[in-house]
Amino acid sequence: MGWAPGSRQVKTYVHLCPKDVEQAFLKMHGLTEEEKQKNLPQTCGCGMINDSFARYCLTCGNPLRVEIVMQDQEMLHSETNKAVREMMEMFKDPRMLKQFEEFKNGLGDRG
Ligand SMILES: [Zn+2]
Repeated sequence: MGWAPGSRQVKTYVHLCPKDVEQAFLKMHGLTEEEKQKNLPQTCGCGMINDSFARYCLTCGNPLRVEIVMQDQEMLHSETNKAVREMMEMFKDPRMLKQFEEFKNGLGDRG
């Protein structure tokens, strides 16, 4: 009659619980439980489920991890300082300041 309960194939599946299969699969791909955690979708406080690689929530724009906030604040801080310093350097030269004013006026004309 071909396939029947109790055949070798069925027994194999019965004795493997999903957890074992999962672990075997993860090991095969060199992933530990910890690695898997990192790849889990991230749920925001607002309820939006974001991709594992997302940094900010797609819905409310809140950062999804604390380290993201810290990284970005640091970057923003140093970038702002750099920009301000460059601006200050530029405006020490009156010609540059004049050029900047002209540039600003040019932008205004277009808008
Ligand atoms: Zn959100």
